[in-house]
This record gives sequence, structure tokens and C-alpha cells, in this order.
Amino acid sequence: MEITCHCDNVRIELPSIPKEVGKCNCSICSRYSALWAYYSPDEITISYAKEKTVFYIWGDKEVEFHRCSICGCVTHYITTPKCDEDMLAVNMRMAENDVLKGIFVRDIDGASR
Ligand SMILES: [Zn+2]
Repeated sequence: MEITCHCDNVRIELPSIPKEVGKCNCSICSRYSALWAYYSPDEITISYAKEKTVFYIWGDKEVEFHRCSICGCVTHYITTPKCDEDMLAVNMRMAENDVLKGIFVRDIDGASR
């Protein structure tokens, strides 16, 4: 399936609709209000109609939080070489409400880690 940011600049192709998403309460995820579906980077294709995403990186610099440079939607994050895991998480808030409705939301306690 494909999801897009609000202005359709960023398109993310997923292998299928995820069964569940993670809702994390850490300082950054709670501000973004993101719902993450986790993948290996080679499972996901990201394309851009106009401009590439820009990203935010902080703290231990293990994760880049990418957003559309036009509409500002947070579309995904990807781990950097500093992280032990090779992971890409897609923000399923970019999916239509009808799709999102059917996905189980798992609470993740990232705040106390
Ligand atoms: Zn956009």
C-alpha cells in the first residue's frame, strides 16, 4: 500500500498494511503524535514528487526524524550508523483514517527508557 504526506510530495510504499503501530510517549514522539510502523529499510520505498525530506536529529544522534519540506508532515524515521539496529519506522498518521481505524495501537513507554 502507499501513503503520502499532506501535499503528496512524499510517497511511501509499504509491503502491506501493518497489523499494529507503536504509540510512544517519549519527548519527541509525543510531540509529533506519531504512530510508528516498524520495518527494515529495504522493505520500504520512499519517493519525492518535488523535494526531498528534511530531518531532525538530536541527543545520541541514533535516529533521523524526517518530514516533508513543503507541508511539514513527519513521515518516517530512520536509524543512523550510530544505532545498533537498522530500522525504518513509518508514521501511519499519513494513512487515511479508514485505514488507520483498523490498525491496533500498542503503547510504548519510551519516556522511561
Ligand atoms: Zn508534503
